[in-house]
Amino acid sequence: MFDYIAISTLNDFIFCPYSIYLHNVYEGGAEELYHATPQTRGKAAHTTIDEKKYSTLKSEIVGLSVYSDELGIAGKIDIYKAKEKLLIERKYQLKTIYQGQIYQLWAEYFCMKEMGYDIEKLAFYAISNNQMFPVELPSDDDKQEMMRFIEIFKMYNPEEDIITNENKCNNCIYNSLCDKTEYHVYE
Ligand code: SF4
Repeated sequence: MFDYIAISTLNDFIFCPYSIYLHNVYEGGAEELYHATPQTRGKAAHTTIDEKKYSTLKSEIVGLSVYSDELGIAGKIDIYKAKEKLLIERKYQLKTIYQGQIYQLWAEYFCMKEMGYDIEKLAFYAISNNQMFPVELPSDDDKQEMMRFIEIFKMYNPEEDIITNENKCNNCIYNSLCDKTEYHVYE
C-alpha cells in the first residue's frame, strides 16, 4: 500500500523526527498524522474535482484537500485566492519563518500545481499583526531539495539515535514520554 505523508507533519519532522513517532505511539494518530492513506487521497481527489468546478464561481478557496502523486504527500491548504493566483498559509504569529514552514507551503503549492491550479504567488499571513510575508516560488533545485527531504522522512527509523537539544526538548510536548532525551522538564 502506498502511503502519503501528511503535509502538516513536515515542520514537526524537522523539529524532531522522533516527536512524530511519539505522537503515533501515544495518541494513536498514525493514519491521520504520519501518513495519509489512499482512501484520504481518493477523498481529496473527489473534493478537488468538486471544489475546482466551484472555483470558477468562488474567488477564494479555503481548506481544500490536496495531494501529489509525484511527491507522495497530501494535506489541506489554508487559502487560495484565485483572482490573484495566490496561495496563503496563515499563522497566528510569525517571528521567524522556519524551513519546515517553507516546506509546508511548497508542498501545498506542488500539490495544487499537480491538480491543475494556477499559482503565481505564495505568502504567509500573520494573524496577530495582520502582516503578509511573501515567499518566492520554489525553483527546480528547491523541488529537488524537498524531494530529498521527503525521502529522509519516509526512510526514518525511530530506533536510530538522534541528537537532542536541551532548549528543543524542554519545549517539546512529548518531553515526559520521550526515551531519547536526557533533558526532562519534570524530574
Ligand atoms: S523530547 Fe526531544 S528528543 Fe524527544 S521527541 Fe521531543 S524534541 Fe525529540
